[in-house]
Amino acid sequence: MSLHISREHAEMLDKKDPIARKRDEFFIEEGTIYLDGNSLGPAPKSVFDSIDVTMREEWAKGLIRSHNTAGWFMLTDTLGDKLANLLGAGQGEIVVCDTTSLNIYKTLHAALSMQPNRKRIVAEATSFPTNLYMAEGVVSTRKDVSIALEGRDGDAIEDLINEDTAIVMLNHVDYRSGVIRDVKAITELAHSMGAMVMVDLCHSAGVIPVDLRDLNVDFAVGCTYKYLNGGPGSPAYAYAAKRHHGKFTQPLSGWHGHAAPFKFEQSYRQGEGARALLCGTQHTLSMRALQSGLAIFDDVSVSELYEKGKALSDFFVSLVDGFADEFGIGFYSPKDVNLRNGQVSLTHETGGYAIVQALIERGVIGDFRQPNVMRFGFAPLYLRYVDIWDAAIHLHDVLKSEEWTQERFNVVATVT
Ligand SMILES: *Cc1c(COP(=O)(O)O)cnc(C)c1O
Repeated sequence: MSLHISREHAEMLDKKDPIARKRDEFFIEEGTIYLDGNSLGPAPKSVFDSIDVTMREEWAKGLIRSHNTAGWFMLTDTLGDKLANLLGAGQGEIVVCDTTSLNIYKTLHAALSMQPNRKRIVAEATSFPTNLYMAEGVVSTRKDVSIALEGRDGDAIEDLINEDTAIVMLNHVDYRSGVIRDVKAITELAHSMGAMVMVDLCHSAGVIPVDLRDLNVDFAVGCTYKYLNGGPGSPAYAYAAKRHHGKFTQPLSGWHGHAAPFKFEQSYRQGEGARALLCGTQHTLSMRALQSGLAIFDDVSVSELYEKGKALSDFFVSLVDGFADEFGIGFYSPKDVNLRNGQVSLTHETGGYAIVQALIERGVIGDFRQPNVMRFGFAPLYLRYVDIWDAAIHLHDVLKSEEWTQERFNVVATVT
């Protein structure tokens, strides 16, 4: 069996790829086709030495002094400034800290604190669940506040935004479908109604252009272990637009967010700028790993990455389109490449989970999301066109042979 486009064509596309060199900066095992960089990016090769130096030199020899001499204490800010370059933010507007979930909690509270007379959080019912759970957590501490969801309380988010809205929480890219939201237009509308916007960049940062200044959002959050390749459990980040600095409060008032942490004062005085979003001591080893992930973006532009990501995912769509109907495969993501990030989600009525497991056994790693969505991420930093071709033929063969119906592929693991 072959696909309707030849593997030689894929090889030719790789030869013409202007950023093909970047693949060599990652550790990718022979025989692995990694289509899950939208869940956990692969390891940059430079991370091994960086962690080794942090352990053997900075920790073992430098001890406590390294908070100053190796810059540990300020990594929240120095990495935040580095990310700012990638996300179109200004210096001092982003801090790297905690988890996306915690940063959602802090920024929702921050927005509410600036608008005491507005009682409504507006969000998407299709939001990544933790975003909604954290909004519920906010409501549990603010009984006067309520949540309105697009897809539950109204069809369009535009209809839910009104004079009572304090903050609109958006996902820049939908985690299931990869669809890109028009954050700029919704922000304009929200601002015209006097409401604020917080955007979650988990599935956009590092793979599609993000310009926070241009989007004009008030707050933003995101994680760094997906397309930013920061490593398992790497810290998240939080953005507060400069115009709001000094004007909001948030309830996780830990000592790192204090104006003078080492004065050890008895009560809380909020620190300046985005530092007011900090809480306590961060995971230094994870910060170092993230530093390696971010360094990879130094000599490549996000627009180059976006172009390649689109081309890779478009290639996959055209290959799969050749046999999708025959095997009951549906497209959950829009086929129009301009509507989505570098991700393609497919559906299969009964076999979604098992098909992904059968592919994983063949070295093609994607993931599964309820109820029937098979997600394939096309991270442009390290994937080749031949990887896409090989992944498509594996998918074809798994379906054709009905390999996925074997019992071992139908045992559900904890992390899918
Ligand atoms: C991955 C992801 C998260 C993860 O939150 P953590 O607190 O870092 O576990 C949150 N929101 C979205 C949209 C995500 O894609």
